[in-house]
Amino acid sequence: MKGLYIHIPFCNSICSYCDFPKMVANEKNKELYINKLIEEIKTKRELLHNITSVYIGGGTPNSINNELLEKLLLSINDILSYSLENTIECNPELLTQSQIDLFNKYNINRVSLGVETINDNIIKQINRHHTKNMVKEKIYLLKDNNINNINIDLIFGFPNETIDDVNNDLDFILSLPITHLSYYSLILEEKTLLYYQINNKIINELDEDLIADMYELIRNRLKNTNFIQYEISNFSLPNYESIHNLLYWNEEEYIGAGMGASSFINNQRITNYKSLKKYLEYKVEDIIDISLEERKKEIFMLGLRKRQGVNIKKYQLEYNENPIIKFNLNKWINNNFLIIDGDYLKINDDKILLSNIIFEEFV
Ligand code: SF4
Repeated sequence: MKGLYIHIPFCNSICSYCDFPKMVANEKNKELYINKLIEEIKTKRELLHNITSVYIGGGTPNSINNELLEKLLLSINDILSYSLENTIECNPELLTQSQIDLFNKYNINRVSLGVETINDNIIKQINRHHTKNMVKEKIYLLKDNNINNINIDLIFGFPNETIDDVNNDLDFILSLPITHLSYYSLILEEKTLLYYQINNKIINELDEDLIADMYELIRNRLKNTNFIQYEISNFSLPNYESIHNLLYWNEEEYIGAGMGASSFINNQRITNYKSLKKYLEYKVEDIIDISLEERKKEIFMLGLRKRQGVNIKKYQLEYNENPIIKFNLNKWINNNFLIIDGDYLKINDDKILLSNIIFEEFV
């Protein structure tokens, strides 16, 4: 398995909590960027064989005009034509029939919609602009055009959010014909407007216990549906787990292109600059060699995020050592945080909320 990630950093407006590499830009800069991106992908061509998934993320990839979008898709058309899963992230507000026509023309077979919440007050507070009806309408538009593999991104734990709000978001989402749901807890990142608002007591942060209750509610409600939790924040219908996301948790190789994008290839993590100016000069910000010991730790740090856990038999065969002894994991097994299930070691279902404590063991 090997992935290609392509970053489009443009958004029409900036959400108050966001710390992704993103910007509002004029048409000229968008064009310069897409040309540079195509050039970067060309320079990485010898690495781009046997790609199993392509993920075009952002930013808001569907905020660029159709001409630029087609130019980009055309440049990777050969890869898109054989790769198993080709995803594009979209803002529902901006999604049009002509964009969907391009998706079909270039074999984009999965769309991920950034929704975050359908609560009008919170939408306004975080500076987003969609409505519940708009989301519904766009999902049916995708389905009418044979794009059936649809993810929705949601966030819980926004300031002023209540348990009833989360229940309402879930009621709505579960009424829609989607295949995948990524449901993240809000992370308060420095250098965001929300961080400033909370630090200056303009808005109050939610209580940690309430956030934990929200997470439990989400898991419990989804347990009574056809959705299966396959990662801490990800749920899917059977056989609709994201091939691309699984690459990251399975420590597989991926090649990133675009502002701030990272690659993990030949035991190196290579990261591009997050500023447009530097990216256009095409300077790589960072190349880190990942040692064998770091790689072994990452197998557990990332793999334990999956509900299936880490295949310890495979680890043992590959590295000729027992990971339970190596990482001193017996204490976690004895206190029921970790359980062995066949060939796999995984976090016990009722300890998922405390996952971070276990991850620290591998830092
Ligand atoms: S649309 Fe997405 S990338 Fe753009 S500002 Fe909002 S959260 Fe960030």
